[in-house]
Amino acid sequence: MPGFEVFGEEERKEAMQVFDTGVLFRYEFGEQRRGVYKVREFEERFAAYCGVSHAQAVTSGTAALKVALVALGVGPGDEVITQGFTFVATWEAILDLGAVPVFSEIDDTLNMDPVDLEKKITPKTRAIIPVHMMGAAARILEIVEIAARHGIPVIEDTAQSPGASVHGRKLGSFGACGTFSFDPVKTITTGEGGMVTTNDPDLWRIFSEYQDHGHDHVQNPGGRGGEGRRFIGFNFRMMELQGALGLAQLAKLDAIIKEQAVNKGRMREVLSSIPGISFRTYVDVKGDSATFLAFFLPSIEKTKAVNAVLREHGAGAVYFAENTWHYYPQWEHLLSGSTLAHSGWPFQDGHGRRRVIYDPQGLPQSAEIIGRTLVYQVPVKLSDERLAQIALAAKAAALV
Ligand SMILES: *Cc1c(COP(=O)(O)O)cnc(C)c1O
Repeated sequence: MPGFEVFGEEERKEAMQVFDTGVLFRYEFGEQRRGVYKVREFEERFAAYCGVSHAQAVTSGTAALKVALVALGVGPGDEVITQGFTFVATWEAILDLGAVPVFSEIDDTLNMDPVDLEKKITPKTRAIIPVHMMGAAARILEIVEIAARHGIPVIEDTAQSPGASVHGRKLGSFGACGTFSFDPVKTITTGEGGMVTTNDPDLWRIFSEYQDHGHDHVQNPGGRGGEGRRFIGFNFRMMELQGALGLAQLAKLDAIIKEQAVNKGRMREVLSSIPGISFRTYVDVKGDSATFLAFFLPSIEKTKAVNAVLREHGAGAVYFAENTWHYYPQWEHLLSGSTLAHSGWPFQDGHGRRRVIYDPQGLPQSAEIIGRTLVYQVPVKLSDERLAQIALAAKAAALV
């Protein structure tokens, strides 16, 4: 996830145009801004890049999830299905609306297992959020088909996979909404920031109003203070400096993916010498954004032993089974229902009754897979020295 690796002159140039006008707000300031609308331009270019009709910029990927869920009418009493391997933000957004996250298993794509998804649909399911983890697609065609059969909208959490695609169609364009993050470690970054994509103009209008306190953005003689509102909203507005950075980063996205694909190939080759190694399954390998290289070993014991040797040689991989931010059994605050609210909300209702109970052993298939999974982040700039270090580590690990 290397937006920061290629941060430089282009970003500076875009941002300076904002400094030159002095307008940081995405709306209003008609004359002073001299035609500079960075956030709006970033939205238009991002939508075009993803092949959708509309994109709404917001303050973060977490905000993007909230805006999408709100726009689909999700709230207390509803269930939203997502996967047990994702960043905490996905279910934080669901819980923050008072809805209940229901977790599906993953399969060897390391994303939502459509078979388990279908088992977890109930009459209360109001949205499904597959997460395109680590640069590559979930089985999105099957997921969208199942969801359509049940009349449930899909939100694609594409925070980790901008620019990735399936059969030439960009992720974030398959569901009712796609959500993206531009936080400091994502593939392209605006420091903090997010985007919601859709092909539905009515849905987009709701995003646009909700993220700006309900402002309807209809031109009227009273200006912004005279604008109408249809419902209560919130503030998730992106600022012009972020829009400027987004424009510069988006222009580099295809080049980032291209470089990563080359480096991923080199890394994969040197790792292939480890006996018993196999690699993540891709729905469409040509559409992989190549931000991560994930591989499997035959058993949990072997996985730990191999990673111990890789670590000794300065090339340890990420072992998500032990990572506290991305994997269900490690989310102790979710499992125990830790919240700041006196009432215990959203884990308890106003009467001290538990609304939801999570079983740490509830996702055995995911545990079996994640326990055997090791992951390298793929850099845009991979030095020969680093590659040689990984190769040496892999050679040592082959003897385990
Ligand atoms: C990073 C991330 C988010 C949240 O994005 P922020 O911009 O950091 O709020 C949501 N989902 C996934 C899968 C992520 O990796």
